[in-house]
Amino acid sequence: MSDVTGTELRALMAHVPSVEQVMASDGFAALAEEFGRTQVLATLRGALDGWRAAALAGCASVGSLDLPALTASVEQNLRERNRAKFRTVFNLTGTVLHTNLGRALLPDAAVSAVVAALTRPANLEFNLETGKRGDRDDLIDELICELTGAEAATVVNNNAAAVLLTLSALAPKKEVIVSRGELVEIGGAFRIPDIMMRAGARLREVGTTNRTHLKDYDEAIGPRTALLMKVHTSNYAINGFTKEVTVAELAPLSKERSVPMAVDLGSGTLVDLTQWGLPREATVRETITAGADLVTFSGDKLLGGPQAGLIVGRRDLIAKIKKHPLKRALRVGKLTLAALEPVLQLYRAPELLAERLTTLRLLTRPADAMRAAAERVQPALQRTAGERYTVTVEPMFSQIGSGALPVDLLPSYGLVVRTADGKRGGRQLLALEKKLRELPRPLVGRVADDALRLDLRCLEAADEAEFVAQLAGSEG
Ligand SMILES: *Cc1c(COP(=O)(O)O)cnc(C)c1O
Repeated sequence: MSDVTGTELRALMAHVPSVEQVMASDGFAALAEEFGRTQVLATLRGALDGWRAAALAGCASVGSLDLPALTASVEQNLRERNRAKFRTVFNLTGTVLHTNLGRALLPDAAVSAVVAALTRPANLEFNLETGKRGDRDDLIDELICELTGAEAATVVNNNAAAVLLTLSALAPKKEVIVSRGELVEIGGAFRIPDIMMRAGARLREVGTTNRTHLKDYDEAIGPRTALLMKVHTSNYAINGFTKEVTVAELAPLSKERSVPMAVDLGSGTLVDLTQWGLPREATVRETITAGADLVTFSGDKLLGGPQAGLIVGRRDLIAKIKKHPLKRALRVGKLTLAALEPVLQLYRAPELLAERLTTLRLLTRPADAMRAAAERVQPALQRTAGERYTVTVEPMFSQIGSGALPVDLLPSYGLVVRTADGKRGGRQLLALEKKLRELPRPLVGRVADDALRLDLRCLEAADEAEFVAQLAGSEG
Protein backbone atom coordinates (compact mmCIF):
# COMPACT_ATOMS: atom_id res chain seq x y z
CA MET A 1 0.00 0.00 0.00
CA SER A 2 0.85 3.63 0.16
CA ASP A 3 3.73 4.93 2.13
CA VAL A 4 2.46 8.50 1.80
CA THR A 5 1.74 10.15 5.14
CA GLY A 6 -1.48 12.05 5.75
CA THR A 7 0.31 15.38 5.72
CA GLU A 8 2.10 14.63 2.47
CA LEU A 9 -1.15 13.51 0.91
CA ARG A 10 -2.97 16.69 1.92
CA ALA A 11 -0.11 18.72 0.49
CA LEU A 12 -0.30 16.75 -2.77
CA MET A 13 -4.07 17.12 -3.08
CA ALA A 14 -3.70 20.86 -2.71
CA HIS A 15 -2.14 20.83 -6.19
CA VAL A 16 -5.33 19.57 -7.81
CA PRO A 17 -6.67 22.57 -9.74
CA SER A 18 -10.31 23.57 -9.69
CA VAL A 19 -12.35 22.17 -12.53
CA GLU A 20 -13.86 25.59 -13.29
CA GLN A 21 -10.44 27.17 -13.62
CA VAL A 22 -9.20 24.46 -15.95
CA MET A 23 -12.33 24.64 -18.07
CA ALA A 24 -11.87 28.39 -18.42
CA SER A 25 -8.39 28.01 -19.91
CA ASP A 26 -7.87 28.63 -23.63
CA GLY A 27 -6.89 25.02 -24.25
CA PHE A 28 -10.03 23.61 -22.65
CA ALA A 29 -12.23 26.22 -24.28
CA ALA A 30 -10.91 24.97 -27.63
CA LEU A 31 -11.62 21.37 -26.65
CA ALA A 32 -15.16 22.29 -25.56
CA GLU A 33 -15.65 23.99 -28.92
CA GLU A 34 -14.71 20.78 -30.71
CA PHE A 35 -16.11 18.04 -28.46
CA GLY A 36 -18.82 19.84 -26.51
CA ARG A 37 -18.57 20.91 -22.85
CA THR A 38 -20.26 17.82 -21.36
CA GLN A 39 -17.76 15.39 -22.79
CA VAL A 40 -14.74 17.55 -21.98
CA LEU A 41 -15.91 18.07 -18.40
CA ALA A 42 -16.48 14.34 -17.84
CA THR A 43 -13.06 13.49 -19.28
CA LEU A 44 -11.35 16.15 -17.16
CA ARG A 45 -13.08 14.88 -14.00
CA GLY A 46 -12.03 11.35 -14.90
CA ALA A 47 -8.43 12.49 -15.33
CA LEU A 48 -8.41 14.29 -11.97
CA ASP A 49 -10.03 11.30 -10.22
CA GLY A 50 -7.37 9.11 -11.77
CA TRP A 51 -4.67 11.42 -10.48
CA ARG A 52 -6.14 11.37 -6.95
CA ALA A 53 -6.23 7.57 -6.96
CA ALA A 54 -2.60 7.51 -8.11
CA ALA A 55 -1.68 9.99 -5.37
CA LEU A 56 -3.26 7.74 -2.74
CA ALA A 57 -1.24 4.85 -4.10
CA GLY A 58 1.87 6.98 -3.82
CA CYS A 59 2.58 7.18 -7.53
CA ALA A 60 1.32 10.55 -8.79
CA SER A 61 3.52 13.33 -10.03
CA VAL A 62 2.57 16.96 -9.52
CA GLY A 63 3.92 17.71 -13.01
CA SER A 64 1.05 15.86 -14.69
CA LEU A 65 -1.32 18.46 -13.21
CA ASP A 66 0.32 21.30 -15.16
CA LEU A 67 -2.23 22.90 -17.41
CA PRO A 68 -0.35 21.99 -20.64
CA ALA A 69 0.08 18.37 -19.47
CA LEU A 70 -3.55 18.11 -18.40
CA THR A 71 -4.74 19.63 -21.67
CA ALA A 72 -2.65 17.21 -23.69
CA SER A 73 -3.79 14.14 -21.79
CA VAL A 74 -7.49 15.09 -21.87
CA GLU A 75 -7.22 15.88 -25.57
CA GLN A 76 -5.57 12.54 -26.32
CA ASN A 77 -8.23 10.72 -24.34
CA LEU A 78 -11.01 12.54 -26.22
CA ARG A 79 -9.44 11.87 -29.62
CA GLU A 80 -9.01 8.17 -28.90
CA ARG A 81 -12.55 7.84 -27.61
CA ASN A 82 -13.95 9.59 -30.66
CA ARG A 83 -11.89 7.87 -33.30
CA ALA A 84 -14.26 6.07 -35.65
CA LYS A 85 -14.51 2.32 -35.13
CA PHE A 86 -15.51 1.98 -38.77
CA ARG A 87 -12.37 2.82 -40.73
CA THR A 88 -10.98 2.47 -44.20
CA VAL A 89 -8.07 0.08 -44.70
CA PHE A 90 -5.69 -0.99 -47.44
CA ASN A 91 -6.85 -4.35 -48.77
CA LEU A 92 -3.61 -6.18 -49.55
CA THR A 93 -5.05 -9.64 -48.97
CA GLY A 94 -5.17 -10.40 -52.68
CA THR A 95 -8.91 -11.07 -52.42
CA VAL A 96 -10.61 -8.38 -54.48
CA LEU A 97 -14.20 -8.94 -53.28
CA HIS A 98 -13.31 -9.48 -49.64
CA THR A 99 -16.49 -9.96 -47.63
CA ASN A 100 -14.84 -8.90 -44.35
CA LEU A 101 -13.42 -5.76 -45.97
CA GLY A 102 -16.65 -4.58 -47.54
CA ARG A 103 -16.62 -6.32 -50.96
CA ALA A 104 -17.06 -4.17 -54.08
CA LEU A 105 -15.68 -0.62 -54.18
CA LEU A 106 -17.99 1.79 -55.91
CA PRO A 107 -17.11 3.80 -58.99
CA ASP A 108 -17.15 7.61 -58.79
CA ALA A 109 -20.52 7.93 -60.51
CA ALA A 110 -22.12 5.90 -57.74
CA VAL A 111 -20.30 7.79 -55.01
CA SER A 112 -21.60 11.18 -56.15
CA ALA A 113 -25.12 9.79 -56.48
CA VAL A 114 -24.94 8.53 -52.89
CA VAL A 115 -23.67 11.87 -51.61
CA ALA A 116 -26.55 13.65 -53.36
CA ALA A 117 -29.07 11.18 -51.94
CA LEU A 118 -27.63 11.65 -48.47
CA THR A 119 -27.92 15.39 -48.51
CA ARG A 120 -31.00 16.15 -50.64
CA PRO A 121 -34.59 14.94 -50.77
CA ALA A 122 -35.21 12.52 -53.63
CA ASN A 123 -38.06 10.82 -55.50
CA LEU A 124 -37.55 7.55 -53.65
CA GLU A 125 -41.26 6.70 -53.60
CA PHE A 126 -42.67 9.61 -55.52
CA ASN A 127 -43.69 9.37 -59.17
CA LEU A 128 -42.53 12.58 -60.82
CA GLU A 129 -44.85 12.07 -63.81
CA THR A 130 -48.10 11.63 -61.91
CA GLY A 131 -47.19 13.51 -58.76
CA LYS A 132 -48.48 10.52 -56.82
CA ARG A 133 -46.90 7.97 -54.53
CA GLY A 134 -44.46 5.66 -56.32
CA ASP A 135 -42.72 2.32 -55.75
CA ARG A 136 -38.97 2.37 -55.10
CA ASP A 137 -38.45 -0.59 -57.44
CA ASP A 138 -39.80 1.54 -60.31
CA LEU A 139 -36.58 3.57 -60.24
CA ILE A 140 -34.49 0.64 -61.25
CA ASP A 141 -36.47 -2.35 -62.56
CA GLU A 142 -36.48 -1.34 -66.24
CA LEU A 143 -32.72 -1.00 -66.26
CA ILE A 144 -32.28 -4.37 -64.56
CA CYS A 145 -34.61 -5.98 -67.10
CA GLU A 146 -32.73 -4.36 -69.99
CA LEU A 147 -29.45 -5.80 -68.74
CA THR A 148 -30.71 -9.26 -67.88
CA GLY A 149 -33.49 -9.90 -70.40
CA ALA A 150 -35.90 -10.56 -67.51
CA GLU A 151 -39.58 -9.52 -67.57
CA ALA A 152 -39.56 -8.04 -64.09
CA ALA A 153 -37.26 -7.31 -61.18
CA THR A 154 -37.19 -6.33 -57.54
CA VAL A 155 -34.37 -5.39 -55.18
CA VAL A 156 -33.83 -6.25 -51.51
CA ASN A 157 -31.09 -5.77 -48.94
CA ASN A 158 -28.76 -8.60 -49.98
CA ASN A 159 -28.84 -11.88 -51.83
CA ALA A 160 -29.52 -13.90 -48.67
CA ALA A 161 -32.65 -11.77 -48.28
CA ALA A 162 -33.49 -12.34 -51.95
CA VAL A 163 -33.42 -16.11 -51.45
CA LEU A 164 -35.34 -15.93 -48.16
CA LEU A 165 -38.02 -13.72 -49.71
CA THR A 166 -38.33 -15.85 -52.84
CA LEU A 167 -38.83 -19.03 -50.83
CA SER A 168 -41.18 -17.34 -48.34
CA ALA A 169 -43.36 -15.94 -51.09
CA LEU A 170 -43.43 -18.91 -53.45
CA ALA A 171 -43.09 -22.03 -51.32
CA PRO A 172 -44.72 -21.62 -47.89
CA LYS A 173 -45.56 -25.09 -46.47
CA LYS A 174 -44.57 -26.55 -49.83
CA GLU A 175 -41.60 -28.49 -51.12
CA VAL A 176 -38.55 -27.11 -52.87
CA ILE A 177 -36.37 -29.59 -54.72
CA VAL A 178 -32.61 -29.05 -54.47
CA SER A 179 -29.72 -31.28 -55.51
CA ARG A 180 -27.57 -32.64 -52.64
CA GLY A 181 -24.57 -31.31 -54.55
CA GLU A 182 -25.88 -27.74 -54.14
CA LEU A 183 -26.78 -27.51 -50.44
CA VAL A 184 -24.27 -24.74 -49.87
CA GLU A 185 -23.15 -22.85 -46.85
CA ILE A 186 -21.94 -19.33 -47.64
CA GLY A 187 -19.75 -17.74 -44.92
CA GLY A 188 -21.65 -16.09 -42.11
CA ALA A 189 -24.27 -18.76 -41.51
CA PHE A 190 -26.18 -18.65 -44.77
CA ARG A 191 -27.10 -22.30 -45.33
CA ILE A 192 -29.66 -23.41 -47.85
CA PRO A 193 -31.39 -25.92 -45.51
CA ASP A 194 -31.65 -23.29 -42.73
CA ILE A 195 -32.97 -20.56 -45.02
CA MET A 196 -35.47 -23.04 -46.37
CA MET A 197 -36.74 -23.78 -42.85
CA ARG A 198 -36.88 -20.08 -41.93
CA ALA A 199 -38.91 -19.43 -45.06
CA GLY A 200 -41.40 -22.10 -44.00
CA ALA A 201 -40.60 -24.27 -47.01
CA ARG A 202 -39.72 -27.95 -46.95
CA LEU A 203 -36.41 -28.95 -48.46
CA ARG A 204 -36.65 -31.98 -50.71
CA GLU A 205 -33.09 -33.18 -51.39
CA VAL A 206 -32.41 -35.16 -54.53
CA GLY A 207 -29.39 -36.94 -56.02
CA THR A 208 -26.10 -37.36 -54.20
CA THR A 209 -23.21 -35.06 -53.33
CA ASN A 210 -21.38 -35.77 -56.58
CA ARG A 211 -24.12 -36.85 -58.99
CA THR A 212 -27.65 -35.68 -59.61
CA HIS A 213 -29.67 -36.72 -62.68
CA LEU A 214 -32.73 -35.28 -64.39
CA LYS A 215 -34.77 -38.30 -63.30
CA ASP A 216 -33.98 -37.48 -59.66
CA TYR A 217 -35.81 -34.17 -60.06
CA ASP A 218 -38.53 -35.81 -62.15
CA GLU A 219 -39.28 -38.48 -59.53
CA ALA A 220 -39.33 -35.98 -56.68
CA ILE A 221 -41.97 -33.70 -58.20
CA GLY A 222 -45.34 -34.17 -56.53
CA PRO A 223 -48.50 -32.25 -55.65
CA ARG A 224 -46.67 -30.35 -52.88
CA THR A 225 -43.76 -29.21 -55.05
CA ALA A 226 -43.60 -25.42 -55.34
CA LEU A 227 -40.18 -24.86 -56.84
CA LEU A 228 -37.17 -26.47 -58.43
CA MET A 229 -34.14 -24.67 -57.13
CA LYS A 230 -30.57 -24.57 -58.32
CA VAL A 231 -27.86 -22.99 -56.21
CA HIS A 232 -24.51 -21.84 -57.51
CA THR A 233 -21.78 -23.75 -55.67
CA SER A 234 -20.02 -20.46 -55.13
CA ASN A 235 -17.29 -21.37 -52.70
CA TYR A 236 -16.42 -24.95 -53.58
CA ALA A 237 -15.99 -27.23 -56.56
CA ILE A 238 -16.89 -30.88 -56.83
CA ASN A 239 -14.46 -32.66 -59.12
CA GLY A 240 -14.08 -36.20 -60.42
CA PHE A 241 -17.05 -38.47 -61.08
CA THR A 242 -19.74 -35.82 -61.17
CA LYS A 243 -23.05 -35.04 -62.84
CA GLU A 244 -25.03 -31.85 -62.51
CA VAL A 245 -28.31 -31.10 -64.24
CA THR A 246 -27.88 -27.72 -65.91
CA VAL A 247 -30.53 -25.00 -65.99
CA ALA A 248 -31.09 -25.72 -69.70
CA GLU A 249 -31.52 -29.45 -69.01
CA LEU A 250 -33.93 -28.83 -66.15
CA ALA A 251 -36.03 -26.24 -68.02
CA PRO A 252 -38.15 -28.65 -70.12
CA LEU A 253 -39.09 -30.65 -67.00
CA SER A 254 -39.98 -27.43 -65.16
CA LYS A 255 -42.25 -26.35 -68.05
CA GLU A 256 -43.83 -29.76 -68.58
CA ARG A 257 -44.69 -30.21 -64.90
CA SER A 258 -45.52 -26.51 -64.39
CA VAL A 259 -43.11 -26.14 -61.49
CA PRO A 260 -41.12 -22.91 -61.69
CA MET A 261 -37.34 -23.02 -61.48
CA ALA A 262 -35.43 -20.56 -59.28
CA VAL A 263 -31.67 -20.19 -59.62
CA ASP A 264 -29.56 -18.63 -56.89
CA LEU A 265 -26.58 -17.44 -58.90
CA GLY A 266 -24.75 -15.89 -55.96
CA SER A 267 -22.34 -13.57 -57.69
CA GLY A 268 -24.37 -13.20 -60.84
CA THR A 269 -22.35 -11.39 -63.42
CA LEU A 270 -24.11 -9.34 -66.10
CA VAL A 271 -21.40 -9.74 -68.76
CA ASP A 272 -19.25 -12.49 -70.20
CA LEU A 273 -16.03 -12.16 -68.23
CA THR A 274 -13.96 -14.18 -70.68
CA GLN A 275 -13.70 -11.09 -72.93
CA TRP A 276 -11.27 -9.74 -70.30
CA GLY A 277 -9.43 -13.01 -69.91
CA LEU A 278 -11.28 -13.83 -66.70
CA PRO A 279 -12.77 -17.24 -65.97
CA ARG A 280 -16.13 -18.13 -67.42
CA GLU A 281 -19.23 -17.64 -65.29
CA ALA A 282 -22.83 -17.96 -66.49
CA THR A 283 -24.43 -14.53 -66.82
CA VAL A 284 -27.86 -13.68 -65.45
CA ARG A 285 -29.15 -13.25 -69.02
CA GLU A 286 -27.87 -16.68 -70.06
CA THR A 287 -29.53 -18.22 -67.03
CA ILE A 288 -32.86 -16.60 -67.92
CA THR A 289 -32.49 -17.61 -71.57
CA ALA A 290 -31.69 -21.17 -70.50
CA GLY A 291 -35.09 -21.31 -68.84
CA ALA A 292 -34.83 -20.09 -65.24
CA ASP A 293 -38.08 -18.49 -64.08
CA LEU A 294 -36.33 -16.54 -61.33
CA VAL A 295 -32.71 -15.64 -60.70
CA THR A 296 -31.32 -14.17 -57.48
CA PHE A 297 -27.88 -12.53 -57.21
CA SER A 298 -25.82 -10.07 -55.16
CA GLY A 299 -25.26 -6.40 -55.92
CA ASP A 300 -21.80 -6.21 -54.35
CA LYS A 301 -20.06 -9.26 -55.76
CA LEU A 302 -19.07 -9.42 -59.44
CA LEU A 303 -21.70 -6.86 -60.33
CA GLY A 304 -19.52 -4.32 -58.54
CA GLY A 305 -22.25 -2.27 -56.88
CA PRO A 306 -23.64 -1.69 -53.39
CA GLN A 307 -24.81 -4.44 -51.06
CA ALA A 308 -28.15 -5.58 -52.47
CA GLY A 309 -30.03 -8.66 -53.57
CA LEU A 310 -31.58 -8.64 -57.02
CA ILE A 311 -34.48 -10.90 -57.94
CA VAL A 312 -35.34 -11.06 -61.63
CA GLY A 313 -37.63 -13.20 -63.73
CA ARG A 314 -41.24 -13.94 -64.62
CA ARG A 315 -43.61 -11.05 -64.09
CA ASP A 316 -46.26 -13.06 -62.19
CA LEU A 317 -43.69 -14.52 -59.79
CA ILE A 318 -42.04 -11.15 -59.14
CA ALA A 319 -45.49 -9.63 -58.48
CA LYS A 320 -46.15 -12.32 -55.87
CA ILE A 321 -42.75 -11.74 -54.27
CA LYS A 322 -43.34 -7.98 -54.11
CA LYS A 323 -46.65 -8.50 -52.32
CA HIS A 324 -45.16 -10.61 -49.52
CA PRO A 325 -44.88 -8.75 -46.17
CA LEU A 326 -41.21 -9.69 -45.85
CA LYS A 327 -40.48 -7.54 -48.91
CA ARG A 328 -41.19 -4.47 -46.78
CA ALA A 329 -38.87 -5.73 -44.04
CA LEU A 330 -36.08 -6.55 -46.48
CA ARG A 331 -36.37 -3.53 -48.76
CA VAL A 332 -33.35 -1.46 -49.72
CA GLY A 333 -32.65 2.04 -48.51
CA LYS A 334 -32.28 5.09 -50.72
CA LEU A 335 -28.48 4.98 -50.62
CA THR A 336 -28.48 1.53 -52.15
CA LEU A 337 -30.76 2.58 -54.97
CA ALA A 338 -28.77 5.76 -55.54
CA ALA A 339 -25.58 3.70 -55.92
CA LEU A 340 -27.06 0.84 -57.89
CA GLU A 341 -28.48 2.82 -60.81
CA PRO A 342 -25.20 4.44 -61.96
CA VAL A 343 -23.35 1.14 -61.55
CA LEU A 344 -25.91 -0.64 -63.73
CA GLN A 345 -25.73 2.16 -66.29
CA LEU A 346 -22.02 1.46 -66.74
CA TYR A 347 -22.99 -1.91 -68.23
CA ARG A 348 -24.57 -0.09 -71.18
CA ALA A 349 -21.01 0.72 -72.29
CA PRO A 350 -19.30 -2.67 -72.03
CA GLU A 351 -16.21 -1.49 -73.91
CA LEU A 352 -15.56 1.05 -71.13
CA LEU A 353 -16.48 -1.24 -68.26
CA ALA A 354 -12.98 -2.49 -67.41
CA GLU A 355 -11.92 1.10 -66.93
CA ARG A 356 -14.97 2.46 -65.12
CA LEU A 357 -16.23 -0.38 -62.96
CA THR A 358 -13.79 -0.53 -60.04
CA THR A 359 -14.21 -4.26 -59.40
CA LEU A 360 -13.54 -5.15 -63.02
CA ARG A 361 -10.63 -2.71 -63.24
CA LEU A 362 -9.00 -4.40 -60.24
CA LEU A 363 -9.70 -7.89 -61.55
CA THR A 364 -8.19 -7.10 -64.96
CA ARG A 365 -5.22 -5.08 -63.73
CA PRO A 366 -2.12 -6.20 -65.64
CA ALA A 367 0.57 -7.96 -63.58
CA ASP A 368 3.13 -5.41 -64.89
CA ALA A 369 1.24 -2.58 -63.20
CA MET A 370 1.29 -4.41 -59.87
CA ARG A 371 4.98 -5.24 -60.28
CA ALA A 372 5.83 -1.58 -60.97
CA ALA A 373 3.78 -0.46 -57.96
CA ALA A 374 5.51 -3.04 -55.78
CA GLU A 375 8.91 -1.76 -56.87
CA ARG A 376 7.89 1.83 -56.13
CA VAL A 377 6.64 1.17 -52.60
CA GLN A 378 9.16 -1.52 -51.59
CA PRO A 379 11.72 0.95 -50.13
CA ALA A 380 9.06 2.56 -47.91
CA LEU A 381 8.00 -0.77 -46.45
CA GLN A 382 11.61 -1.90 -46.01
CA ARG A 383 12.37 1.26 -44.01
CA THR A 384 9.32 0.79 -41.81
CA ALA A 385 10.02 -2.90 -41.25
CA GLY A 386 13.67 -2.22 -40.36
CA GLU A 387 16.72 -4.37 -40.85
CA ARG A 388 15.33 -7.39 -39.03
CA TYR A 389 13.14 -8.02 -42.06
CA THR A 390 13.69 -8.33 -45.80
CA VAL A 391 11.07 -6.99 -48.17
CA THR A 392 11.09 -8.39 -51.70
CA VAL A 393 8.95 -7.90 -54.80
CA GLU A 394 7.48 -11.24 -55.87
CA PRO A 395 4.80 -12.71 -58.11
CA MET A 396 1.75 -14.09 -56.33
CA PHE A 397 -1.87 -14.98 -57.01
CA SER A 398 -4.99 -12.96 -56.17
CA GLN A 399 -8.51 -14.29 -55.97
CA ILE A 400 -11.81 -12.80 -57.02
CA GLY A 401 -13.42 -13.60 -53.67
CA SER A 402 -16.98 -13.57 -52.34
CA GLY A 403 -17.56 -17.04 -53.55
CA ALA A 404 -17.09 -16.11 -57.19
CA LEU A 405 -15.11 -18.71 -59.08
CA PRO A 406 -13.46 -20.24 -56.02
CA VAL A 407 -10.77 -22.22 -57.80
CA ASP A 408 -9.50 -19.57 -60.18
CA LEU A 409 -6.44 -17.52 -59.35
CA LEU A 410 -5.24 -14.30 -60.97
CA PRO A 411 -1.49 -13.66 -61.47
CA SER A 412 -0.42 -10.65 -59.43
CA TYR A 413 2.59 -9.02 -57.77
CA GLY A 414 3.24 -7.85 -54.27
CA LEU A 415 5.64 -7.46 -51.38
CA VAL A 416 6.82 -10.41 -49.35
CA VAL A 417 8.30 -9.78 -45.91
CA ARG A 418 10.50 -12.40 -44.25
CA THR A 419 12.76 -12.28 -41.21
CA ALA A 420 16.27 -11.23 -42.23
CA ASP A 421 18.02 -14.03 -40.37
CA GLY A 422 16.13 -16.54 -42.46
CA LYS A 423 14.75 -18.29 -39.38
CA ARG A 424 11.10 -19.20 -39.24
CA GLY A 425 9.86 -15.97 -37.80
CA GLY A 426 6.29 -16.69 -36.70
CA ARG A 427 6.13 -14.33 -33.76
CA GLN A 428 8.31 -11.67 -35.33
CA LEU A 429 6.21 -11.64 -38.50
CA LEU A 430 3.01 -11.43 -36.52
CA ALA A 431 4.45 -8.44 -34.63
CA LEU A 432 5.04 -6.60 -37.90
CA GLU A 433 1.67 -7.67 -39.24
CA LYS A 434 0.08 -6.21 -36.10
CA LYS A 435 2.06 -2.98 -36.39
CA LEU A 436 0.84 -2.50 -39.98
CA ARG A 437 -2.69 -3.27 -38.85
CA GLU A 438 -2.45 -0.51 -36.23
CA LEU A 439 -1.58 2.25 -38.71
CA PRO A 440 -4.12 5.09 -39.04
CA ARG A 441 -5.33 3.42 -42.25
CA PRO A 442 -4.50 -0.19 -41.44
CA LEU A 443 -2.69 -2.42 -43.95
CA VAL A 444 -4.35 -5.81 -44.13
CA GLY A 445 -2.25 -8.55 -45.69
CA ARG A 446 -1.87 -12.21 -44.91
CA VAL A 447 0.73 -14.34 -43.18
CA ALA A 448 1.45 -17.64 -44.88
CA ASP A 449 4.50 -19.89 -45.29
CA ASP A 450 6.65 -17.90 -42.83
CA ALA A 451 6.14 -14.67 -44.73
CA LEU A 452 3.87 -11.66 -44.62
CA ARG A 453 2.37 -11.23 -48.08
CA LEU A 454 0.99 -7.93 -49.33
CA ASP A 455 -0.72 -8.30 -52.70
CA LEU A 456 -0.71 -4.94 -54.50
CA ARG A 457 -3.60 -5.65 -56.88
CA CYS A 458 -5.93 -3.40 -54.89
CA LEU A 459 -3.42 -0.60 -54.29
CA GLU A 460 -4.27 1.66 -57.20
CA ALA A 461 -2.14 4.64 -58.23
CA ALA A 462 -4.47 7.11 -56.50
CA ASP A 463 -3.78 5.44 -53.13
CA GLU A 464 -0.06 4.97 -53.49
CA ALA A 465 1.04 8.35 -52.10
CA GLU A 466 -1.04 7.86 -48.94
CA PHE A 467 0.35 4.36 -48.56
CA VAL A 468 3.95 5.57 -48.74
CA ALA A 469 3.40 8.68 -46.59
CA GLN A 470 1.80 6.64 -43.87
CA LEU A 471 4.70 4.19 -43.84
CA ALA A 472 7.18 7.07 -43.72
CA GLY A 473 5.39 8.35 -40.63
CA SER A 474 5.91 5.04 -38.82
CA GLU A 475 9.55 4.19 -39.52
CA GLY A 476 11.73 2.48 -36.95
C1 LIG B 1 -22.96 -14.88 -51.74
C2 LIG B 1 -24.08 -15.80 -51.94
C3 LIG B 1 -25.28 -15.63 -51.23
C4 LIG B 1 -25.46 -14.53 -50.24
O1 LIG B 1 -25.41 -13.29 -50.85
P1 LIG B 1 -25.28 -11.95 -49.96
O2 LIG B 1 -25.41 -10.85 -50.95
O3 LIG B 1 -23.95 -12.03 -49.30
O4 LIG B 1 -26.37 -11.97 -48.97
C5 LIG B 1 -26.30 -16.50 -51.47
N1 LIG B 1 -26.16 -17.51 -52.35
C6 LIG B 1 -25.02 -17.72 -53.04
C7 LIG B 1 -24.94 -18.86 -53.99
C8 LIG B 1 -23.94 -16.86 -52.86
O5 LIG B 1 -22.81 -17.05 -53.55
